[in-house]
Amino acid sequence: MKDMSDNGLLIVSEDLCQQLVGRKEAFDAVQDVFAAMARGDAYNFPVIREAIGYADALYGFKSGFDRAGQVLGVKSGGYWPGNTEKGLTNHQSTVFLFDPDTGRLSALVGGNYLTAVRTAASAAVSIAHLARRDSKVLGMVGAGHQSTFQLRAAAEHRDFEKVVAWNPHPEMLPRLEGVAHEVGLEFQAVTQEELGAQADVIITITSAFEPLLMKDWIKPGTHLACMGTDTKGKQEVDAMLVAHATVFTDEVAQSITIGETQHAVADGQLTKDQITPIGAVINGDHPGRGSDEEITLFDGTGVGLQDLAVASVAAKLADKAGLAGRATL
Ligand code: NAD
Repeated sequence: MKDMSDNGLLIVSEDLCQQLVGRKEAFDAVQDVFAAMARGDAYNFPVIREAIGYADALYGFKSGFDRAGQVLGVKSGGYWPGNTEKGLTNHQSTVFLFDPDTGRLSALVGGNYLTAVRTAASAAVSIAHLARRDSKVLGMVGAGHQSTFQLRAAAEHRDFEKVVAWNPHPEMLPRLEGVAHEVGLEFQAVTQEELGAQADVIITITSAFEPLLMKDWIKPGTHLACMGTDTKGKQEVDAMLVAHATVFTDEVAQSITIGETQHAVADGQLTKDQITPIGAVINGDHPGRGSDEEITLFDGTGVGLQDLAVASVAAKLADKAGLAGRATL
């Protein structure tokens, strides 16, 4: 079979990724790979993430193989807290794609923009499949880099009228307000309790290590997409809320170790077999939301296959349009 790297290694820059991979492309790629994971057609390899003892950096790899989509590769990168002072993004990553038939390196794809767009797509997939159809109010907890991508993606999947938002650093909220207005939504900064009382859908996207939303503040029928917890020890919502909800995730193994369910599982309030991969809902093997009163919670931990899926879309589109750089090893 002809591989896209037959004419040399493809180089797909950050700018090109932004130009070619929009929210629709990312949504479709992430939805498809979640479905493939649940069918057993795609799997993630164990994640490596280490403090390197230099520049306060965390560095690691997320990798996997999607047999259905024929995508093999690794995202490598991490977090360099001193980058802001250098005018660079703290999170840095690059995706390496390999030809699954030969093992040849086929593409190098910038991973910074794609990480944001694939994380937003993950929450959007959960909203599309699990939120009540009549959801009108979107609650945002978090106002950092990822939050604006999350808001834009979520807004496309229900007829929201309003955004209610809370952030531990309130001075960050005006940027999110600007994005809400751009997509035609009213915006209100609220307390955490008010957010729970008003929101039909809630996205949490912070770096919290303690719960920011408690069980009793959340109204029946709410859908939560908990997206910030991606490391052992992090936590965004009350473990009792997780135990009370019907829980879905991208990957169960990652959810119980580094995701939002880690605390409820450790406390014995939730078991692994009570957590459903969202791919099962996409594939029609699980009904998803059971009633209008049920609280559904999606634990989006962020898997390597999401990165590979969107990077593969970027590489294919860049190749087709003749826009990618070329190199030989
Ligand atoms: P950012 O640094 O731009 O913003 C951080 C956000 O967390 C802000 O809202 C800030 O006010 C809040 N915050 C900072 N310290 C906090 C604390 N101690 N307690 C509570 N809140 C705190 O980061 P970002 O790029 O927007 O990413 C937000 C989170 O999402 C990070 O934790 C990141 O690791 C995680 N993330 C998850 C995925 C995934 O796939 N699940 C992907 C990318 C990022």
